[in-house]
Amino acid sequence: MAFRACGLCKGLKEEEAADVEIVIQVHERLYKYLVYKMTCHYISNHGYVPCPDFVDAILHGEIVEIIKVRTNGTELPSEYVPWYENHDYSPIGYLVGEYNVGEVDQEVLSKLNELMVNAEGASKEE
Ligand SMILES: [Zn+2]
Repeated sequence: MAFRACGLCKGLKEEEAADVEIVIQVHERLYKYLVYKMTCHYISNHGYVPCPDFVDAILHGEIVEIIKVRTNGTELPSEYVPWYENHDYSPIGYLVGEYNVGEVDQEVLSKLNELMVNAEGASKEE
C-alpha cells in the first residue's frame, strides 16, 4: 500500500486509488483523459475546477474505456504524463502551478468519484 502526501494539505493520506485513463465519447467525438488519483480530493477539499471540456464529458459523455494505471506509485507524474500527452490524453488534476478554483457541480464530483472507484474494482488482477 502506497502513501502519498497531498501537496496542498501537507498531510499523509492513505492512497489505494490509482490514476485512471478515461476514454469518453461526447458530442460524437472521442476524448482521452488521464485523471490523477487525487482529483476528487482536490475538487472537494481545495476547490479545484477541472477544465470545462472534462466537466462536460463527465456529465454528458459515454464511457468507452476506463483503466486503472500507475499503481506502483514509484513514478513521478513528470515521468509519465508526457507519454500520455504525446498519445492525445489530456491530464486532469495534476496541479502544476496555478489552477482554476470555484464551484464544481455535485453531480460531476459524484460521477467522477464513482468512475474512479469502478476503475479500481475493474482491475484487481494483480
Ligand atoms: Zn489536500
